[in-house]
Amino acid sequence: MLNKTKLTLIGAGPAGSLLAIYLAKRGFHVDIYERRPDMRKTPISAGRSINLAISTRGIHALREAGVVDAIMKIAVPMKGRMMHAVSGELTFQRYGKDDTEVIYAVLRSELSMALMNEAEKYPNVKIHFNERCTGMDFKTGEIELRDDDIIGHARKARTEVVIGTDGSASAIRMDMLKAGRFNFSQQYLEHGYKELTIPAGPNGEYKIEKNALHIWPRKTYMLIALPNIDGSFACIFFFPFEGDPSFASLDHEVKVLDFFKTQFPDVVPLMPNLLENYFSNPTGAMVTIKCAPWHIDGKALLLGDAAHAIVPFFGQGVNCAFESCAYLAECIDQHGNDWQKIFAEFENLRKVNTDAIAELALKNFVEMRDLVADPKFLFKKKVEQALQQKYPTIFVPKYSMVTFHRLPYSVALSRGKIQDRILAELCESIDRIEDLDWDKAERLIKNDLRMPQTQ
Ligand SMILES: Cc1cc2nc3c(=O)[nH]c(=O)nc-3n(C[C@H](O)[C@H](O)[C@H](O)COP(=O)(O)OP(=O)(O)OC[C@H]3O[C@@H](n4cnc5c(N)ncnc54)[C@H](O)[C@@H]3O)c2cc1C
Repeated sequence: MLNKTKLTLIGAGPAGSLLAIYLAKRGFHVDIYERRPDMRKTPISAGRSINLAISTRGIHALREAGVVDAIMKIAVPMKGRMMHAVSGELTFQRYGKDDTEVIYAVLRSELSMALMNEAEKYPNVKIHFNERCTGMDFKTGEIELRDDDIIGHARKARTEVVIGTDGSASAIRMDMLKAGRFNFSQQYLEHGYKELTIPAGPNGEYKIEKNALHIWPRKTYMLIALPNIDGSFACIFFFPFEGDPSFASLDHEVKVLDFFKTQFPDVVPLMPNLLENYFSNPTGAMVTIKCAPWHIDGKALLLGDAAHAIVPFFGQGVNCAFESCAYLAECIDQHGNDWQKIFAEFENLRKVNTDAIAELALKNFVEMRDLVADPKFLFKKKVEQALQQKYPTIFVPKYSMVTFHRLPYSVALSRGKIQDRILAELCESIDRIEDLDWDKAERLIKNDLRMPQTQ
């Protein structure tokens, strides 16, 4: 049975398409307006095919929507980090406690296309391509739409309820900003990123370990590589915009090649298109966006990156957006068609948690690019593992709480801070696991963490 409210989503990215499925299942008629042409029919531009890591929160939301199998078909499991030293030495660090705790690599474009296919299976979902929303009048509910390929093409469409899933440069958010009493902050990183590729071998084989997220940590910058299903790896080079070395200073083929040969010697033979990729792919910026309120008059809501863009270093942007889709659906189930109430409750449940993952993601950049190669940090990780084995329901590593559990991000953040303090105290004057003071560990854990972690 069709529900009477017609819902309009702006943006058919991962969040918009998954949300459409949740809403269609509840009987709503959903129109999605997507700025770009249909990427299933038009090739996407080079250098815009980020590979995302999907983990427990995202998978849970996909399962609830009944689409997890469609996504798992295009995903590659990654069991841990494979660190590459300049010397070529490899160190593997497992992500979870065993092979049941893995994360999955999937190309963002493949993910979006698979979710669009799933959404379009519902007769009450319609995706309109080449329709860029340029603004919304919150009084009348009218949105303005343009086709970027046709000069002067603009039209208005009437809406009942709009959900802006239009990413970090959200047009709906821009108009909320103009409406007044709207808090907004954006903080750019001094680093940018560029996509590079390790192609598959001649028979489609993986040239480096398939089931790992590869990291070349180099203190102030890093390169990472995630496996694709076709045997290739999507790589991301995180590097400062300015300074030396930086994207600004590596401005010539000879400089780039010399730099890669010195810093990433094992990668150069694997990347025959390094120079072409480096100079033709765009350099992306990374930003943390916070805003509030996320909704206006029960007429419009922001969800996903539109409400809370975060830097990518905890691999949680899309997982967080998917989790939000499931939360919004629960709020709808509770409050029917009272959109003011639904949106207020949704924001109340999510904002504190999206702020928490924003903070966690910023901190994880330092861990990934710098600390993973630091012997002290690696020793702390060993102690952390030992504590987890002894107190599996109380002492759960921060990475696991975020990645393999669904407890609120804010709880992961606060428990993580306490655990960091405990680890620092226990590791202060030892460098061998045999010297760990277990009595002290027991005392600190029982005193400071007390409650077992749930979910
Ligand atoms: C380098 C990098 C690595 C990342 N790695 C991970 C990771 O490992 N794991 C993870 O979970 N997340 C990761 N992320 C974050 C993830 O990509 C985002 O959180 C996710 O794409 C957000 O989904 P979304 O649907 O909210 O927004 P988007 O993916 O930005 O989709 C927005 C959609 O709206 C459309 N649109 C935009 N403006 C308009 C408009 N005005 N009118 C109509 N349509 C519009 C766009 O074309 C797009 O289709 C990474 C991000 C980056 C940059």
